[in-house]
Amino acid sequence: MKIGILGMQGDIEEHLAIMEKIGVDSIRVKSVKTLEAVDGLIMPGGESTTMLKLLKLTGLFDVLKAKIEKGFPVYGTCAGLILLANEVEHPAQDSLDVLDLSVSRNGYGRQINSFHAEISIPVIGDKPFDAVFIRAPVITKVGKIDVLASYNHAPVFVRHENIIASTFHPELSDDTRIHEFFVEMVKNATRN
Ligand code: GLN
Repeated sequence: MKIGILGMQGDIEEHLAIMEKIGVDSIRVKSVKTLEAVDGLIMPGGESTTMLKLLKLTGLFDVLKAKIEKGFPVYGTCAGLILLANEVEHPAQDSLDVLDLSVSRNGYGRQINSFHAEISIPVIGDKPFDAVFIRAPVITKVGKIDVLASYNHAPVFVRHENIIASTFHPELSDDTRIHEFFVEMVKNATRN
């Protein structure tokens, strides 16, 4: 089993480091060819506008969308969640349109308003998770998807089938439980 980290821009090294820490093989994905070599993909935080441009330039946009629609497991964090959403606001932008939610970019304000908070995520255990929010988006509306965690009454971690997404950055916490949760999801998907 191999996990890909979308390697256009953003927190790529941090995700690769966590995968190494939990003993899971991972590579950077920047082309359709490398995407075909992985069993699941993490789309990191960074700048969603830049990532969107590069996804389209490399042809990854269409291939990735088609794969996700067929059940390929993905985990979008922050900008990655914005790329997966059905609807992006503030400002509006194109997206893969595979996750039934609306998201408002930079919904908590600017860089200076970045923060961290202890949140409860029952699917990974009883111990709260120290979640880091950096120019994070706010999920303003959810459709038929599961909310795995909320903060201040807004969902911050969601799941729909083989897609998970968080508005915070788990790669910046010294806690590998969310990555392990995703790896289990990928293992189950490859078994089917
Ligand atoms: N504000 C960024 C965007 O809109 C996302 C920030 C992040 O990924 N930390 O793309």
